[in-house]
Amino acid sequence: MDLGIRGKSAIVCASSKGLGKACATALAREGADVVMNGRTADVLEAAAAEVRKVATGKVTTVCVDVTTEAGRAALLAACPSPDILVNNAGGPPPGNFRDWSRAHWEAALNANMLTPIELIKATVDAMCERGFGRIVNITSSSVKSPIPVLGLSNGARAGLTGFVAGVAREVSRHGVTINGILPGPFDTDRLRGTIRYQAEQSGRTFDEEYEVRRSATVPGRFGRAEEFGELCAFLCSAHAGYINGQNIVIDGGIYPGTL
Ligand code: NAP
Repeated sequence: MDLGIRGKSAIVCASSKGLGKACATALAREGADVVMNGRTADVLEAAAAEVRKVATGKVTTVCVDVTTEAGRAALLAACPSPDILVNNAGGPPPGNFRDWSRAHWEAALNANMLTPIELIKATVDAMCERGFGRIVNITSSSVKSPIPVLGLSNGARAGLTGFVAGVAREVSRHGVTINGILPGPFDTDRLRGTIRYQAEQSGRTFDEEYEVRRSATVPGRFGRAEEFGELCAFLCSAHAGYINGQNIVIDGGIYPGTL
């Protein structure tokens, strides 16, 4: 299927690895001009080189911390008026809420709530003027079903989701959509970091803990980043203009609700 985004410009935040990289790959393959981002120059350049192998549009890199004002300004300087914005950043650390100070909360809110809101604010009006825009926020299945060790993530992402629920309805008559994708466990560095923490808590080895987590999933496996990237590209496509304000869980059926 042609997704109809050839020549559209896209910023994919935090895209040198994992889910963000998979989104950048799928969008670039469909012909979008993609700006990739990460804080580690060699990792980012290696990722961009891989993406260029499948890209049919331009792929550029901006090596900055997206959670800073200067970082966001650099991204917007590279692509001042994107047609597509994928909001993403590293997730907050796992832990026990009794150990978290106000500074921990402020860091999580900054990265996973305020940073995407700032980028939406900087880009959405121009999308409305052009009559086309796609914004996807990478959040977490924890928005629907909180993960006890990830309280900082549960809180910050719920805040973003609440904000977006309102603004998505304001912009949809201008051809702009804003949706959340809520990943369950995908086999990335992030998931492995959380499993490492849980192994320390349980006294199991990393491999044992990995196996406990994997075998407890409904489909018997973790998600693959490419599966996530394809969903993101579809939500950014010309065909997805009537999907707006939604929070789409991609977890192999782990979320147990009927609806
Ligand atoms: P990942 O594999 O660890 O990749 C994170 C990417 O983000 C890397 O490219 C990293 O590069 C970049 N990054 C992190 N902080 C950044 C910052 N401040 N500025 C710019 N780039 C930054 O993680 P992932 O699994 O793809 O996760 C992506 C998001 O989804 C996270 O928020 C995570 O919490 C959430 N999530 C993941 C899962 C899962 O199972 N994987 C489940 C639910 C939610 P540098 O470190 O070099 O900057």
